[in-house]
Amino acid sequence: PTFSNLGLAEPILRAIADAGYTTPTPIQAQAIPQVIAGGDLLAAAQTGTGKTAGFTLPVLHMLQGHKPANQRAGAPRCLVLTPTRELAAQVEESVQTYGKYLPLKSLVIFGGVGINPQIDALRRKVDILVATPGRLLDHAGQKTVDLSAVEILVLDEADRMLDMGFIHDIRKVLALLPAKRQNLLFSATFSDEIRALADRLLDNPRCIEV
Ligand code: AMP
Repeated sequence: PTFSNLGLAEPILRAIADAGYTTPTPIQAQAIPQVIAGGDLLAAAQTGTGKTAGFTLPVLHMLQGHKPANQRAGAPRCLVLTPTRELAAQVEESVQTYGKYLPLKSLVIFGGVGINPQIDALRRKVDILVATPGRLLDHAGQKTVDLSAVEILVLDEADRMLDMGFIHDIRKVLALLPAKRQNLLFSATFSDEIRALADRLLDNPRCIEV
């Protein structure tokens, strides 16, 4: 397959060409059409497989396809949870790279740095919020983020999030999200704990493995 016959919008295809990618990786070839079709996804993918573009490209496509009527400041339409600040920063950089020709705003928030600049940033429009769970809950507790407009939830490296003890934080975040949404779960490994999380999170998911 090529990126153009996976169904991605033209501004995204232009950004992909700028990045120098010619062919989708196997995870991208499988994940992109599934996400664009609108269903939940369970993907087994290691780092280095192109998994980040595997979810950022179709998420950008979904969000650019329609505009909510009254988008509130600080109320993201897509929430990506990651285990570490490094991964959060990398994912947000990918969103910026692939979304550079789209009028969508992204923001990354993580712990270990001052919260006030993040609070300021959350006073503006944000379409895609990439966050680590603990700091996201700090913002939710202070009502500086509004998770009631999330259309797409992505859990990236879900196995690492569980290994790092984030299951309770993830549960708390899930309770703040609208019931009707699209869920994408990426994990390198599949323990019983991941399967339990997938069971409660995902609705009739397509499963892909590379
Ligand atoms: P990831 O597995 O998401 O960490 O991506 C691994 C690396 O592959 C990143 O440096 C990407 O920029 C690169 N990459 C992702 N998709 C493609 C592609 N279709 N063609 C070439 N490189 C890619």
